[in-house]
Amino acid sequence: MPPGLYVHIPFCRAKCGYCDFASAPGTPAEIDAFLGALAAESARYDGLAGSFSTLYVGGGTPSLLSPEQLDRLFGIIETLTGPLAALRESTFEANPESLDSEKAALLKRAGVNRVSLGLQAPQDALLKRLGRVAMSGDFLKAWDALRAAGFDNLNADLMCGLPGQSQADFAEAIAWLLKLKLEHVSFYALEVHEGTPFAAAGVKEDPESAADMYAAGAAALEAAGLARYEISNFARPGRQSLHNLNYWEQGDYLGLGPAAASCLGGERRANTADTDDYVKAALAGAPVPQQYRETLAGRARRAERIMLGLRKTAGIELTDDIFIEFKDETERLLKAGLIERSGRTIRIKPDRLYVSNAVFREFV
Ligand code: SF4
Repeated sequence: MPPGLYVHIPFCRAKCGYCDFASAPGTPAEIDAFLGALAAESARYDGLAGSFSTLYVGGGTPSLLSPEQLDRLFGIIETLTGPLAALRESTFEANPESLDSEKAALLKRAGVNRVSLGLQAPQDALLKRLGRVAMSGDFLKAWDALRAAGFDNLNADLMCGLPGQSQADFAEAIAWLLKLKLEHVSFYALEVHEGTPFAAAGVKEDPESAADMYAAGAAALEAAGLARYEISNFARPGRQSLHNLNYWEQGDYLGLGPAAASCLGGERRANTADTDDYVKAALAGAPVPQQYRETLAGRARRAERIMLGLRKTAGIELTDDIFIEFKDETERLLKAGLIERSGRTIRIKPDRLYVSNAVFREFV
């Protein structure tokens, strides 16, 4: 499969309490400098120009860029991808506080064909507790602007297990979300990561209540025609994220921007997550500092292929040699009732997706 291109925009209006992504507030001048660095970094990959089939602009909050900065961003990206409209899929992440009708129309004109809009929950009290900038009314306005601009492939992010979130709040969230008749939902239980404002404030995860909400939410989404196709992702038929499917099928991808990971020909690496370091190096014409660089080969690469494939609810079809190589691991998982097998295809049992980490540990 041709590679995917990921571009990381490391700016947000404010930091959400649970966020451990590479993102921070940025001034217009800092964003301009970042775009200069991005242009310099992308020029290093002109040998890959024209080879990409999908694009994902994520962050951070890419919609924070001004219309002029967005035009510049798409110009940089198109030096590698060619016209966005010719790609199989081009996704753009947005948050409601920075997405109005003008930007929605700009994204459409630029050739973006899929937008992912941050929601998390529709109750403003919960959104405030999460440190989100936009409230549910802002989300609806942005959503309507995207529909009015002609987008027919929209995702919303949803979370459960939030501090102070009751089962009734969550049921209300699902009903609210389904009224949007959306094409895709990315659905996560809250995780409190070290170094986040939530961790500093002593916010605790509530795995039991989150598991109950997740099971109820997954069932409601599926009943409404949004089939679960990956551990955390639900889509209407034909609306799965092609860019992310490429990751789960161990396809190649190039990541540009701070913290962006790449995997090309078995070599995996990730750019520094420090935006200042990234900008300085790229503008000086130097290679971007890397967090790690490793080559996966042999058994490790095949094990990774299985782990990625098992993220999909359809599972993974193993070739004869891989099936024999990992026979002990799969037998143990079958005996433990965590996976099921049909011919050479193995998959995590639908009611065990919530404990998928226990499955992945077998292959590490
Ligand atoms: S909007 Fe997203 S990337 Fe930005 S701080 Fe919040 S969770 Fe992190």
